[in-house]
Amino acid sequence: MIRTGGCLCGAVRYTVKGPMRPVIACHCTQCRRSSGHHVAATSAPREAFAVEGTVTWFRSSETAQRGFCGVCGAPLFWDGPGANLSIFAGSLDDPTGLTLTGHIFTASKGDYYTIADGTPQAPGADPSLTTQVDP
Ligand SMILES: [Zn+2]
Ligand SMILES: [Zn+2]
Repeated sequence: MIRTGGCLCGAVRYTVKGPMRPVIACHCTQCRRSSGHHVAATSAPREAFAVEGTVTWFRSSETAQRGFCGVCGAPLFWDGPGANLSIFAGSLDDPTGLTLTGHIFTASKGDYYTIADGTPQAPGADPSLTTQVDP
């Protein structure tokens, strides 16, 4: 399967070939500060990913950087340790065929919302959630 996506203004467009991870919501402070809410992200191997346009990168920690469109500001990618690039699910074109299957860093979530979708929640990082691959 080939999925496509991009930013709000269209200056950045990307293509992902093959399986993508189910969508996981991250409630960490960095995701909240950079996105305005929590982030919902899928991921794919870097070699499955191709981008057109200019992605602006912000180094958000010692081990990760966040990619966004420098024109419209849309947050698009999280690039950290590991073989996969995280791709923010809201930037994908419909239909994605993906499902949100869990929440991580819920200990850092905002106090203004409740997580009530019945999917697993982890207070911090949880590789059992973030390394699964769609069948
Ligand atoms: Zn843009
Ligand atoms: Zn996060």
